[in-house]
Amino acid sequence: MSDLLIKNARFKDNKVQDILILNKVIAEIGNIGESQDVPSIDAKGYFVTAPFVDSHFHLDATLSYGIPRINQSGTLLEGIKLWGELKPNLTADALKERARKLCKWAIARGTLAIRSHVDISDSSLLAVEAMLDIKNEYRPWLDLQLVAFPQDGLIRVGSKNNLNKALDMGVDVVGGIPHFERTMEEGTESIGYLCELASKKGLKVDMHCDESDDPMSRHIETLTKETVRLGLQGRVAGSHLTSMHSMDNYYVSKLLPLMEEAEISVIANPLINITLQGRHDTYPKRRGLTRIPEQMLAGLNVAFGHDCVMDPWYPLGSQDMLDVAHMALHVAQMTGATQMQECFNAVTENPAKILGLEGYGLKKGCKGDLVILQCMDDIEALRLRPARLYVIREGNILSSTQEVTCELDLSGSKSKTDFIFSKP
Ligand SMILES: [Zn+2]
Repeated sequence: MSDLLIKNARFKDNKVQDILILNKVIAEIGNIGESQDVPSIDAKGYFVTAPFVDSHFHLDATLSYGIPRINQSGTLLEGIKLWGELKPNLTADALKERARKLCKWAIARGTLAIRSHVDISDSSLLAVEAMLDIKNEYRPWLDLQLVAFPQDGLIRVGSKNNLNKALDMGVDVVGGIPHFERTMEEGTESIGYLCELASKKGLKVDMHCDESDDPMSRHIETLTKETVRLGLQGRVAGSHLTSMHSMDNYYVSKLLPLMEEAEISVIANPLINITLQGRHDTYPKRRGLTRIPEQMLAGLNVAFGHDCVMDPWYPLGSQDMLDVAHMALHVAQMTGATQMQECFNAVTENPAKILGLEGYGLKKGCKGDLVILQCMDDIEALRLRPARLYVIREGNILSSTQEVTCELDLSGSKSKTDFIFSKP
């Protein structure tokens, strides 16, 4: 059954309306009377949003925390080394079991689309095959987009064949890691090769780009140039871009318009960037997050990714995109009202554009995919990271959670609270 009537859902403009989903699509929004034929739920005036979208994740590494050991230094480089130790012992079954668990967490948190990088460095392409299986298995409930990611370097370890094979097997997006190649020149060469490949195959590009505190890591400049040269505007994303944090202001003032001209999308990963960057600093210690408010102001499409959940790089997380946006808001000091709303958009509509999700949104004619949150609006969603009361995909309820209310007893005086600031 994929028809559903959702009564009393609160939209961003604070209007409370009903949503009718027929044949998997939003057929009507307004004051809709009950119908005998369509099952209904009551959103009780709580906030409705289109689902969360995670535009940067590593599903092949997730939930492997502690295997074979814990990252003691907590650094990016020890994480990469640790992943290298883990890889020879990976099995398809274990990879898929962990990925399934993560996908369930994501769905329960209201995330119904994930772009995941998958490591193609190993010639067996075991992880690629496993993630393609998961993509098919979870297709009814979650859109999984895969990126061919040369974790150990494209040129550094010679993984062009593997990358091409992964794309032929059905991986959707061309990935890269130019700052991890041996030299700046080889980083440049890798970007040229990967963008030409994407152009030839008609694919999108999403590179781990300048995930470094080195202000001279300027591969984003080359990525911008190649995007324009090959006419890839609007199809290219730069993930991380943490070196922009440390770059000279004058140089950034030249770079931002070039990125805008090339219609490069930015994917920041606040939870991971704030924990992995600045590790060589004493004090003051850099935050390592890319220049989010400035990029938004320059007209770039900026999204936030979760990147990791309990893997060699990050020991925490539960696939909650509201955790991600909450961190970004704080670290980037985006506490203006419009800025906070932009942080919410960076885990919903902005990444939906990057993934090219069709029918995404809360309008008539869009897919019947939505989430009811136990709060009044998008800013309160960031403040509370509240219960996802209903997660709905094409009119089917995939996950539901009871309203969370605390019952207090203060010397016999009983009351309840749900932390909501003001109910109309
Ligand atoms: Zn990543």
